[in-house]
Amino acid sequence: MSLRRILYNAGRVLSLDDLRAEQAYHRARVQRLARVAIGAGIVSGLEVRCGRREITVMPGSAIDCLGEVVEVSEATSLPLPPHSRERCWVMLTYQETVGESASVPSDGENATVEPGWVEEWAALSIDWSDPMRGHRRARHRYIACGTSHGVPLARLVVRSGQWRTDPAWRPTRG
Ligand SMILES: [Zn+2]
Repeated sequence: MSLRRILYNAGRVLSLDDLRAEQAYHRARVQRLARVAIGAGIVSGLEVRCGRREITVMPGSAIDCLGEVVEVSEATSLPLPPHSRERCWVMLTYQETVGESASVPSDGENATVEPGWVEEWAALSIDWSDPMRGHRRARHRYIACGTSHGVPLARLVVRSGQWRTDPAWRPTRG
């Protein structure tokens, strides 16, 4: 995959699209580096502990298949789902939220207020299928497929009427 970056010249007028392209270029470079050098999966921590009513994910970080870093900064709990199926996966997914307004002048008129920041964060959830199914392996890790989807941290199975972490399932290590 090739990347394209702006070639700056004296006197060149920069547009909104140029500035967005500059940001996209650097993001794409970091994502590509993570995908190629590390691969998709857990980088550190993210141990999943299963209680009676909830699971707790310990702090750590992972790389998703697009190359985004997803982090859990403190131990975080998530309610367990009903026993409607026999197994499920604990997922960590990269998220973006547009928020925090910024004033934008508009052609000499009064300033308008538009979203000014994108917050990057990670969401924990339960999924009923393994998103790494069908991914190619390279030794002990998966090759990133290049699309954005969650990183599985653990597989849970129902044993004696309780959800438990499945020791037979190994998380993907980047
Ligand atoms: Zn993938």
